[in-house]
Amino acid sequence: MNFRYILKFGFYFLVLLAIYISSICYSNRSVSDDPPQIVLKKSTDMYFKWDKDYVTKVSLKAGDSLSVLAHASSTSTDGKQYWVETRDGQRGLVSQDDADNGMAANNIPEYNRKQNLGTLKMSQNHFYEMCTTKTPAELDELWDLAEFVCHTDSGITMRYQVAVLKKEDGKIYRPVVTFQNDSLSSVSWGEPLVAINGWLLRILPASSAIVDGWHQAIDGFYYPIQFFDPYPWYIYLPGYALLIIIWLIWLFFTFLMVPFLFLALIAMRIPFSFMSTRVLQWFTLGVLFVCAYIWLVLSLVSDHWWFIMVPCLGVIVWLFYVFLVDAYLDKRCPYCGAMCGSQVINDEITSIRLSKSRSSSFLQTLSRKTIIHKIGDKTTHRDIYDENLYQDYKDTYQVYDHTVTVKCNHCGGEWKRYNTTSELINREEDGTHIGTSSYTDYNS
Ligand SMILES: [Zn+2]
Repeated sequence: MNFRYILKFGFYFLVLLAIYISSICYSNRSVSDDPPQIVLKKSTDMYFKWDKDYVTKVSLKAGDSLSVLAHASSTSTDGKQYWVETRDGQRGLVSQDDADNGMAANNIPEYNRKQNLGTLKMSQNHFYEMCTTKTPAELDELWDLAEFVCHTDSGITMRYQVAVLKKEDGKIYRPVVTFQNDSLSSVSWGEPLVAINGWLLRILPASSAIVDGWHQAIDGFYYPIQFFDPYPWYIYLPGYALLIIIWLIWLFFTFLMVPFLFLALIAMRIPFSFMSTRVLQWFTLGVLFVCAYIWLVLSLVSDHWWFIMVPCLGVIVWLFYVFLVDAYLDKRCPYCGAMCGSQVINDEITSIRLSKSRSSSFLQTLSRKTIIHKIGDKTTHRDIYDENLYQDYKDTYQVYDHTVTVKCNHCGGEWKRYNTTSELINREEDGTHIGTSSYTDYNS
């Protein structure tokens, strides 16, 4: 057993796990259990924005009493609005100017509909299943509070805090649902929220299943970072910078949690001692791909652009495998699976061959161009561009192929490793060439 590796990879696992868990815990939108109450001084309208271009309203009378759930996001056309609930349970937006009666505005939490793109996600099938097996009130409880609730002649129309992946076009919607006597009557899909990843989510296999299986776990991380606002800039600016770094780590490395745990388990020898190193290599690569794939789907559904996520995850998988897994498994004893090291008992040169290559070395600077950068009279730095003469060589190397026999410190098993070394045996001059170089001098 090698405690060094267990600690190292176990540590990475725990760091990523901590960032992951904190991102989930930090994502709860808060609506007070005991929201502030107001009484309307004049009659006004309550708005339901079902979609970008589809708004309905109902009239409220002076003297109606409302619960104020949150500040709503304000746009230039809407002015400032509150998200409110009426006595009979309708939920919508009213103008702050119409509703305000001198209530302390800072008692009311922020509520930004745009940030709620990060709410609960699910597939279309799961959404239909829930809407047909549960009552609107049960769903309201289960899916946080519905953003809009409107009583109509034909029943009750609601827009829940859920985002639904429609597999046929791969886009994300916030559907508007109408119930009649507690059973589903109609669903209107409206405009998609996220369209840029659509073509990819449409073709990726199992994307609906992954979203349904994991939506609870990735819910959020989009909620307002209000707690920095009262602080001076020299606290909140570094605070935001730190949060962005943590967010990037979360975004691009969280999927490595399981592979890191896997490497720590390999170092423990026992869990995988029955697997040959070759099988374990493929197995690790498989785990890595599955984790990256699940993370890709979840990221795409969460509105992260495919043209950033796909290359970044690809590069991380490649680097992780080449520099970590491959080099790491090379140290594993093929007999007992121990990672505790081995000693060389024989090093034999099996073949010698010649290899030719070219090289060059600096001879002299032919010309120099200097650009001086100044602020006022003071020189800040100089950019120096040189044209140099180089000597070229033809080199001949002798390359030795080694077969190294090593012995496991744990079980005493012996196996062979192959590597090469080389030695310069001849160097001939082969003309000269002119090249350029540049550097910046800050000392002058
Ligand atoms: Zn061994």
